Amino acid sequence: MRFSKLRLNGFKSFVDPTDLLIADGLTGVVGPNGCGKSNLLEALRWVMGETRAKAMRGGGMEDVIFAGTATRSARNFAEVSLQIDNSERLAPSGFNDSDQLDIVRRITRDVGSAYKANAKDVRAKDVQMLFADASTGAHSPALVRQGQISELINAKPKARRRVLEEAAGISGLYQRRHEAELKLKNTEQNLLRIDDVIEQLA
Ligand code: ATP
Repeated sequence: MRFSKLRLNGFKSFVDPTDLLIADGLTGVVGPNGCGKSNLLEALRWVMGETRAKAMRGGGMEDVIFAGTATRSARNFAEVSLQIDNSERLAPSGFNDSDQLDIVRRITRDVGSAYKANAKDVRAKDVQMLFADASTGAHSPALVRQGQISELINAKPKARRRVLEEAAGISGLYQRRHEAELKLKNTEQNLLRIDDVIEQLA
């Protein structure tokens, strides 16, 4: 899977729809301080399902919505779309029926976030899993925030292990194991309830 285009609309300082074309090879983003370079990286992390407002340098998730300036009023929603070249069909099943994949996340004030994959509604969990399987997720070590290197140097071994696991592409498996454990617990509860009912009937 190769990212080919990032589109921002009302996201942080990108009030008007803005396309960032991601060509083959290395893409560099240059510009003066405060022009929005970090916001671009945050948009990428956000569309992949980031849930921590702090990782977006905000107090709450709605802080990603354009907050207005002296000359422009605030927006009511923010939207980021990520276009992915899936011609090699490397996307996991459920996402793998077309050559191009368009993942869209939109947040609306007082409503929250909604996701779409190729115009169909999907859950946050599905999008997070898609990118976790591809080892490019919101927590991927491929995306390095400002200050992250020094955080990593000072991190506890458990936190460092998580970075290695993400790079190895096994964090999606952890999520699946967690879900399987929850299902198992539910089933055990149901079995206990059935035992109770049988006992009452006997
Ligand atoms: P530097 O080179 O200093 O790290 P940068 O190019 O990475 O800067 P960013 O940190 O991405 O710049 O962008 C900061 C700008 O984004 C600031 O001008 C800030 O006011 C603006 N900004 C952040 N959130 C919002 C928002 N919700 N609405 C409007 N503008 C915002």
